Amino acid sequence: MSLLSKRDEIKRNGIREIMELASAIDGPVIELQIGQPIAEIPSFVKAAAIQAIQDNFSSYTANAGIPSLRKAIVNRMQSKYGVEIGLNNVVVSPGAVAALNIVLLSIVDVGEEVLIPDPAYPNYDSLIRIQNAIPKYYPTDPNNEYLPELDKLEDMITEKTKAIIVNSPSNPTGAVLEKDTYKKLIEIARKRNIYIISDEIYDELVYEKDHISALSVDSSYNDFIICVYGFSKTFAMTGWRLGYAILPDHLYSITTKLQEPITTCASSISQKAGEAALTSPLADEFVKEMNQLYRKKRDLACELLDKYETKFVKPNGAFYIIIDISETNMDSMDFAKSLLIERKVAVAPCSTFGPSGDNMIRICFAGDEEKLKEGIEALGEFYQEKVSGNNE
Ligand code: PMP
Repeated sequence: MSLLSKRDEIKRNGIREIMELASAIDGPVIELQIGQPIAEIPSFVKAAAIQAIQDNFSSYTANAGIPSLRKAIVNRMQSKYGVEIGLNNVVVSPGAVAALNIVLLSIVDVGEEVLIPDPAYPNYDSLIRIQNAIPKYYPTDPNNEYLPELDKLEDMITEKTKAIIVNSPSNPTGAVLEKDTYKKLIEIARKRNIYIISDEIYDELVYEKDHISALSVDSSYNDFIICVYGFSKTFAMTGWRLGYAILPDHLYSITTKLQEPITTCASSISQKAGEAALTSPLADEFVKEMNQLYRKKRDLACELLDKYETKFVKPNGAFYIIIDISETNMDSMDFAKSLLIERKVAVAPCSTFGPSGDNMIRICFAGDEEKLKEGIEALGEFYQEKVSGNNE
């Protein structure tokens, strides 16, 4: 098979399929399928954006982003994770997904392999294929909080392996990696100088465990570690399109060069808003409150799922829960479609997250609390009906 046909293999996102079906349904649908926080954007972020508009701060910016935002990011890495970086280790992009794209384009060649978790955020697979590179899924263990199975990961490494993507806290599993796991991963990667791309977009959404930045574990390997963060989750700024990569010096000029033809730069107004999000004296309080809000919703969701005897792993981070539906004998897409048609509740079919996903669905608990409750009740009843139907 020609390598250039890799991009033809890009899968349609199953969540989009469910959303299209949902829009064709009569009456309201409870949407638990997408990772969209409904928190109110903090007023200090809105005020900074309005000010930027009034100041006519509306030109293109430097490809890597405005220096004041990059400086705020440098300070955040220092104060939050004790990681010492300079301005030239920060590239701001229109969303974490755009940052991931230029990072992958900068380091991966046609035909090379990138290891990604199973299950994973679907855009890893697509971004790698768009570049005619090869995504290879490494297993995570549902019996061990969906943490990566590092022995198996190591066995999958070949001469063509260029990078390993890790995502903590994880979408879709909520797994949070511990320091020891990062250490072992770095030891594996070090043997062959393989890059580690650590997607930490949910870093403020941890519940029982602390978030560890991959760059804070062993600075002797930081020339091969790239961390990606964003504003979509922490500050509910999904549509503002703002994220960033922290990368080693040797990747700065290639990533900023590649950003030019792809997106040029992030929105000037969003960058000013992002700067306020990181520097306002009110930011810490907002982030703390938001964390508590999601923790409460997670606990509510888990309590209800327990009541209906569904099988799931309580997430330590992010705002998703994976539910094992194997006892219904339905595959994830069938389950999601039938649930939508019969109960008007939309969930994500996990087949879209990787090969292990056929027996799982994912719900997002970031939305309205009443709807979450109603949605899980309908889901729980539907689940029990299908399981008991099987046992008759
Ligand atoms: N990484 C992960 C794991 C995500 O879940 C998402 C968004 N759902 C992104 C990256 C992309 O975020 P952004 O809106 O900043 O592009």
